[in-house]
Amino acid sequence: MSEGAAKKEERRKFQAIKGTRDLLPPETALWNRVERIAQEVFTSYGFGEIRLPIFEQTDLFARSIGAETDVVSKEMYTFEEKATELPSPRPFFTPRGYTPALEEAFQANPGFNTPENRRRLALLKDHLSTLEQAEVRRDAKASSAAYDHYVAVLETILQGDRVSLRPEATASVCRAYIEHNMQQLPQPVKLYTIGPMFRRERPQKGRYRQFYQIDAEVLGGSDAPGMDAELIEMVMTFFKRLGLEGVELDINSIGDKQCRPKYVELLRAELRKVKDKLGPDSQRRIETNPLRVLDSKLENEQKLIGGMPHIADHLCEECAENYRGVKKELELRGVKYRENWRLVRGLDYYSRTTFEITAKGLGSQNAVCGGGRYDGLMELLGGPPTRATGFAIGEDRLILSLQEAGKRPAAKGRDVYIAWMGEKAYTKAVQAAKNLRAAGFSVELPPVEQKFGKALGQADKLGARYALILGDNEVASGEWTLKTLATGEQAKFTEPTLLDFLQENNAV
Ligand code: AMP
Repeated sequence: MSEGAAKKEERRKFQAIKGTRDLLPPETALWNRVERIAQEVFTSYGFGEIRLPIFEQTDLFARSIGAETDVVSKEMYTFEEKATELPSPRPFFTPRGYTPALEEAFQANPGFNTPENRRRLALLKDHLSTLEQAEVRRDAKASSAAYDHYVAVLETILQGDRVSLRPEATASVCRAYIEHNMQQLPQPVKLYTIGPMFRRERPQKGRYRQFYQIDAEVLGGSDAPGMDAELIEMVMTFFKRLGLEGVELDINSIGDKQCRPKYVELLRAELRKVKDKLGPDSQRRIETNPLRVLDSKLENEQKLIGGMPHIADHLCEECAENYRGVKKELELRGVKYRENWRLVRGLDYYSRTTFEITAKGLGSQNAVCGGGRYDGLMELLGGPPTRATGFAIGEDRLILSLQEAGKRPAAKGRDVYIAWMGEKAYTKAVQAAKNLRAAGFSVELPPVEQKFGKALGQADKLGARYALILGDNEVASGEWTLKTLATGEQAKFTEPTLLDFLQENNAV
């Protein structure tokens, strides 16, 4: 590297990684408001907060979201969690010496003492014993084969788990429900969680690689239509409290294990008839997952897809009854909806109600919330059969929509800026700042002395409502000057009357 290039490299500025972004004040005030209102509304519906890890075993997502989906096959941030706590086999290690050391390490690290690892350890012991017998027989070929087998199993142990940053929260919530035996609690268990998700998607407006979701799940209990309707009512109430504009709710029922397969076959047969007129993605999906063809946004496919059979006409009687019930329950709650027969989910564990909510000002990425019933997921993850329904709100998009509609919170300035001059005044100022902050006011106390003129200018720039002026005169007389910056009015107060005045004027 040339000297110039080296210098340049040294001065390289770092930037946030593509698809990630910093959220800065005052915008974060809006994020806080959104999250606070979510907490208030969800709590009023009996939900409790769950906080989850940001990474999990890759397999958890592969199983729940589906290994063939784009999210899992292309978009996950996956890395190996190396088993560093295990003794590392030196070159020329002997299986005979190493195996007991490994067993000891398993005992010392309960995390490794899993059924899978115990099975692998038993396999290692088998290979070791084959190896020893081969050595006794002086059978070089057999002993070399046993050694290779031993090393292959050992590698799988040392490789550790593959883990991924979570692309969504539902799988983790279900994992936690099973892990903590929540089926023993009164059902249903209602949980919400707020946090970042990660998908390696192509970034654009409203689509990021680190984005935030507000997620709510109802686990256990029945599949009564009131359950789905109440969940939808909750998210609509939340959006209303926020003043989100142009909110539209689409609903559908995708049937269940009984009736959906027949519809999928019918759809496949109908799609095959027009296969040649569809694009390559849809052509492939006719065979792999015909429901997903209904998701297509391609202009030239819309007319053909529009002519396909609707699932609503092919639901079994129980599912049709359930769907009628959900619609009736929504009407009972005054929730307006639109039926959208193309709103489907491509995975088998989904059943019956699905819904999506769109909002204004978001362009093509206008879905702010997706949800639905997933009665089959818990079993797929090794848990007891458990009915469940939930939704995920895209918080970034929710906030974008609020901002587009001009719903920015006014940047809140300081309540009081303390302009002080002189050492004695400083002592008073430090105390006053402490007392005012304890009373709930936002206070700025400059750490170095400034002329009053400059201090007042600074107070103005920070958007402070009042300036508290503390100089030698004020300290001597015990009468402090408070200036209202918007009007320029000044008034004198003793310390206790100052606090009364601020509290009465509702500056908190
Ligand atoms: P999903 O988990 O894919 O059903 O998404 C639920 C909601 O999360 C969507 O309706 C979006 O609002 C939001 N969302 C999904 N992917 C992204 C992304 N890459 N960037 C921002 N928001 C997203």
